[in-house]
Amino acid sequence: MPIKQLVVKTTRQEEMIDITSDINQLIKETGFISGVCHMFVSHTTCGLTINEHADPDVARDILEALNRMVPRGMDYKHIEGNSHAHLKASLMGVNQTILIEEGRLCLGTWQGIFLCEFDGPRQRKIWIKVIEA
Ligand code: ZN
Repeated sequence: MPIKQLVVKTTRQEEMIDITSDINQLIKETGFISGVCHMFVSHTTCGLTINEHADPDVARDILEALNRMVPRGMDYKHIEGNSHAHLKASLMGVNQTILIEEGRLCLGTWQGIFLCEFDGPRQRKIWIKVIEA
């Protein structure tokens, strides 16, 4: 399968967008039963993470905790003024790799994949490679 691109338009300055069903749909289209899915965001102010997606308050709490850990008002030097977003993106990371079995991602019952926007709203690209194995 060639590399795919998932484009997500974020609507807020900061948000976590559940992309699990988009990724599962993409895997379904490959027809692969077993393999690996690797995803990567080619941006410096958003990230990818896996966490609970059953209760939306978890994503809200993560954003709130990140804001306390990485406040906007620190004495950052970066002239663009969005260092807090760069730092949060690094804390989340830019990629995830998940095994595929029975044509689906091997995620736990409560796990979902989130695109984490820290400097939106913007159009974000996620590069996705699904490998049959
Ligand atoms: Zn910047």
